[in-house]
Amino acid sequence: MDIFATMEYGPAPEAVTPALDWLKQHEPFGLLINNQWVKPASGQYIDSINPATGKPLTQVAAANSGDVDAAVAAARTAFESWGKTPGHIRARYMYAIARHIQKHSRLLAVLEALDNGKSIRETRDLDIPLVARHFYYHAGWAQLKSTELPGYEPVGVVGQIIPWNFPLLMLAWKIAPALAMGNTVVLKPARYTSLTALKFAEIMQEVGLPPGVVNILTGEASQVGEALVRHSDVNKIAFTGSTDVGRSIRRTTAGSGKKLSLELGGKSPFIVFDDADLDSVVEGVVDAIWFNQGQVCCAGSRLLVQEDIADRLLGKLRARMEKLRLGNPLDKAVDMGAIVSPGQLKEIERLVAQGVEEGAEMWQPSWACPTGGYFFPPTLFTNVSPATTIAQVEIFGPVLVSMTFRTPAEAVALANNTRYGLAASVWSENINLALDVAPKIKAGSVWINCTNMFDASSGFGGYRESGFGREGGKEGLYEYVKPIWEAQQTTHQPDEVQLILPDEHEKHENGYRTVETPNDFVLPPIDRTPKLFIKGKQVRPDSGYSLDVYDPEHHVVGQVGEGNRKDIRNAVEATHTASGWASGTTHNRAQILYYIAENLAIRAEEFARRIVQQTGRANADAANEVQTAISRLFSYAAWTDKYEGTVHRPPLRGVVLAMKEPIGVIGIACPEEYPLLGFISLVAPAIAMGNTVVVIPSQQSPLSATDCYQVFETSDLPDGVVNIVTGDTDALSQVLTDHDDVDAMWYFGSAEGSKRVELTSAGNMKRTWVNYGHARHWLDAVQGEGEEFLRESTQVKNIWVPYGE
Ligand code: NDP
Repeated sequence: MDIFATMEYGPAPEAVTPALDWLKQHEPFGLLINNQWVKPASGQYIDSINPATGKPLTQVAAANSGDVDAAVAAARTAFESWGKTPGHIRARYMYAIARHIQKHSRLLAVLEALDNGKSIRETRDLDIPLVARHFYYHAGWAQLKSTELPGYEPVGVVGQIIPWNFPLLMLAWKIAPALAMGNTVVLKPARYTSLTALKFAEIMQEVGLPPGVVNILTGEASQVGEALVRHSDVNKIAFTGSTDVGRSIRRTTAGSGKKLSLELGGKSPFIVFDDADLDSVVEGVVDAIWFNQGQVCCAGSRLLVQEDIADRLLGKLRARMEKLRLGNPLDKAVDMGAIVSPGQLKEIERLVAQGVEEGAEMWQPSWACPTGGYFFPPTLFTNVSPATTIAQVEIFGPVLVSMTFRTPAEAVALANNTRYGLAASVWSENINLALDVAPKIKAGSVWINCTNMFDASSGFGGYRESGFGREGGKEGLYEYVKPIWEAQQTTHQPDEVQLILPDEHEKHENGYRTVETPNDFVLPPIDRTPKLFIKGKQVRPDSGYSLDVYDPEHHVVGQVGEGNRKDIRNAVEATHTASGWASGTTHNRAQILYYIAENLAIRAEEFARRIVQQTGRANADAANEVQTAISRLFSYAAWTDKYEGTVHRPPLRGVVLAMKEPIGVIGIACPEEYPLLGFISLVAPAIAMGNTVVVIPSQQSPLSATDCYQVFETSDLPDGVVNIVTGDTDALSQVLTDHDDVDAMWYFGSAEGSKRVELTSAGNMKRTWVNYGHARHWLDAVQGEGEEFLRESTQVKNIWVPYGE
């Protein structure tokens, strides 16, 4: 009778014996190298602790760099055949893995709850089903690779480093696309949560995956993670974890040519407009910040509420928090489990204490947390100002900070007031408002009237300091492939061209022929010294210096301004004034690109002469470069309204709009060769996709780019979309890469310059695209234009729109 009166939950414990037996049978665990369990070279083991009790569960091997060498060698050998294995065969293995995950789903769910401290409700209903779904989905891509990604090959041996918050799910996000595309893998699970990766290793043995295709090394970051990142025979690193470690990996791999994808931290906004369904919102908040104890990179940790409903919503929220059930993760009626480690718990406590110290108001439910494990109660902060630590720093725990706004514009400004950009939720019953706000938020995923939705078909990843690269969706596959032609290019060898010397009378004349007048006077050419092109105006360089431009015979053929740090800063500022370029219509952008092509065509001969004069190449060759540049402008004008997004249909009632958005401000250092075509081939796709650019033209032959000023001026290109600063390529690139308001840097120069760009980009984790000193055949349509350029110009935002009542 008491139960009927209180409607209290009774205990609903999950049986733990099968998981404990499985652990007993295997301990101490070895490393999986070449599909064999091997002892760690160090002979050392580390305890795996149950965070809900603080007691050891088992011991796992502590690998060291010797084990990393062995695993990478195994993966390299395996790659020789796995990389050539037909897609259908890879698909069969991946299908089998998915099936076996389902066969062992309960064991995996219990192991995950024991090891991580998250509730069985989440591991059983979310983590493990999504793991299986990821392998099924990518089995499909393995099958389709040859037809859907022609011209691409696997990158080779991939090092993968994953965190502890979704141990098996992160493993699946990494391994599934890698295998689908034909790569082999060395994976390091997080130190605290290796157990499901070890069960996964056993599954790979069960399905008979060829030896060496996936190798799993447990152990410490300093021994395994760092060695993997530095290893010279690893072709790509895929990392999920903290922004600080991501930054250090970016610096370590700079210039090595290793492909890199980083999924980092977040401080995601959860925006509630006053017409939202508040009861749904409350459940949304529970899922946003108390799911997995808030240890979720995309947790909705900043609640932004429209002022007039704030008190009502916070009241409902406190009532709901009071009812949340926190405790034994293996109790099926528990909402929240334990924090993964004592260290993480201390960090949460420290940040919460700091929030109180900084003047915010803290609220926690009246009930007490269990003792014995690492528990922290759901926590709400109000009276938070946007600049305080708890509003800016990722807490990675069950702590929500709440702020208010009045207008949609203010909501967007608050939402974007963070260095991160992983995800956002927007709550409103007004679909027009929600779909208007979603594209304005700088984040890789936006959930409308829902939160923390994931599916293999919809890519996941960050903007800004939340990292780059996507996991899931077709876009995620490109993280694991490279164009086939790249393998053939090894040194910086521009295309062979026939050199001719300029005619005598063309020398020394700034590119303009002298004219014989009837009265025998020689009419000197009118001096024409191009300045810099900033915000649609030709401006003098701040330095007051000019640089000579030479022909191959070392005769001066003109001068250009010598740009410096200040000019770059002005140019970057100018790009921000042209923000309307991204929000304008694609039709309009296409029209302007066609118009640029039209105006360039009118002056084709003059541009060809300019190329001959600077490079000494044959007339026909130069004319071909100009015509190719015109054709390229046409290509990107064509793509502008055709390189569109996708609508995904994940297994829910709703759709996911995968929108290709511009990256923002792109710095571009043009190649030395092909002074006009190199310039146009990079600028055109960037602006076609809605970016604004600061361009450093070819240092030796900048006049082809500076001649474009007038073409741009007569083509209705809005001021500030293209800004050009001439001068020393490497010095100016350095300033651009250092600049926190530049979102991506493209560099086509030397190997050392490429390394510098990758190294410096770690400052604000900007995306980079560099050539490591390798030449590209710019005249060739496969290498010089196409989807690769469009992909580099865009990032995918997934907007989740569920429907139904
Ligand atoms: P870390 O970045 O320290 O660890 C993540 C992984 O990287 C672990 O496997 C870790 O190994 C390894 N690692 C740590 N240092 C190095 C290194 N120098 N070189 C190579 N590998 C290294 O993150 P935390 O474990 O502290 O996790 C919390 C943070 O991770 C949060 O701030 C959160 O934002 C972020 N995160 C982001 C996610 C995303 O998807 N964007 C997902 C999950 C977490 P070991 O375990 O042995 O230390």
